[in-house]
Amino acid sequence: MSDAKRGFNTLQIHAGAHPDPATGARQTPIYQSTAFVFRDADHAAKLFNLQEVGFIYSRLTNPTVAVLQERVATLEGGAGAVGCSSGHAAQIMALFPLMGPGKNVVVSTRLYGGTVTQMTQTIKRFGWSAKFVDFDDLDAIAAAIDDDTRAVFCESIANPGGYITDLRAVADVADRAGLPLIVDNTSATPYLCRPIEHGATIVVHSTTKYLTGNGTVTGGVVVDSGKFDWSASGKFPSLSDPEPAYHGLKFHETFGPLAFTFHGIAIGLRDLGMTMNPQAAHYTLMGIETLSLRMERHVQNAVKIAKWLEADERVDYVTYAGLESSPYYGRIETVCPKGAGALFTFAVKGGYEACVKLIDAVEIFSHVANLGDTRSLIIHSASTTHRQLEENQQRAAGADPEVVRVSIGIEDADDLIADLDQALSRAVA
Ligand SMILES: *Cc1c(COP(=O)(O)O)cnc(C)c1O
Repeated sequence: MSDAKRGFNTLQIHAGAHPDPATGARQTPIYQSTAFVFRDADHAAKLFNLQEVGFIYSRLTNPTVAVLQERVATLEGGAGAVGCSSGHAAQIMALFPLMGPGKNVVVSTRLYGGTVTQMTQTIKRFGWSAKFVDFDDLDAIAAAIDDDTRAVFCESIANPGGYITDLRAVADVADRAGLPLIVDNTSATPYLCRPIEHGATIVVHSTTKYLTGNGTVTGGVVVDSGKFDWSASGKFPSLSDPEPAYHGLKFHETFGPLAFTFHGIAIGLRDLGMTMNPQAAHYTLMGIETLSLRMERHVQNAVKIAKWLEADERVDYVTYAGLESSPYYGRIETVCPKGAGALFTFAVKGGYEACVKLIDAVEIFSHVANLGDTRSLIIHSASTTHRQLEENQQRAAGADPEVVRVSIGIEDADDLIADLDQALSRAVA
């Protein structure tokens, strides 16, 4: 039976993994080795010429990381994947083959805070730029695309929650312009949303979050759908034109649907070195085995807690797409039918001061700058991650002074509600 016919629960445990051929070990071993012995000189030459696939040196490929790559590619319905050292590394690795000095990417205004900084500031050092657009306005996306645009970028369920992208509509705009759509699927995970089925070309993940699931290691993955024609427009020479470092090899012509993945390893990891290590891949593989079970509980708890908060008079509003009051509730059925994730913000009556008191009063929730952990997390963005911004900038980023962001864990929902209840009482006198 092929992987394509197997269900998600089976694939999250088995895809990419086989009992270790050397020892029979059932669990995927941590191949803690930098280099791998060549069979002979001819084998070495073939590996270096990309004529044969195998292991040379762990900056490029490692057997433990390879299992994770295949697992995530399978769960996303992609052709191949590249493991990276973090989610942010994955974003740079996704853009790297497409961009060049003077080129731009059209991005959604609703993004993880760190991604906003990466896109507004850091990519300028490479001569790249980003144009920020409201992705609910499809005409604005089309209008922002110019001759130098090389990709369109958004999140499926956007951090910090409350927003779901109409992926099919955005993919159609990218398609008409002959551009790849890159989707950050970190908050949704492939259990809740599979962007490739909605027309995405490339999916990126911070595996640091739900895929690993317990706040232990940072990591990222770039998944390619294998469906984009990199040679059609002449806009993607890294993939369509001869590569001098490999004797004029053309990635797209030679590797077809695996061109982007092979380029990511043979050029991206080789020269940028943002490699995932085998220990991190191991923790993430362990996490993925229970992804569906955790996501179901995350969503169940988030719905229950968001409803409780919405009905509470100490709370002004709750921005969770899983609530019928959300303007994005209607998109759940098509984009993420198993639920809208477990990240949202809520506004506390009493504003900034009350939020700070609430954060100090919680007992089960942890006050950390992370999300997607088994344990529930809380942060007041305006006094922490968005502290340096002006109030209007905080509001534009969804970090209004009167809101706190929660990442709902998989504890007992009633205990989480009791914790928020006592903390709200202390915060809103
Ligand atoms: C955390 C996060 C990132 C960055 O990932 P790191 O692993 O921290 O580098 C990118 N996008 C989203 C949606 C995230 O939540």
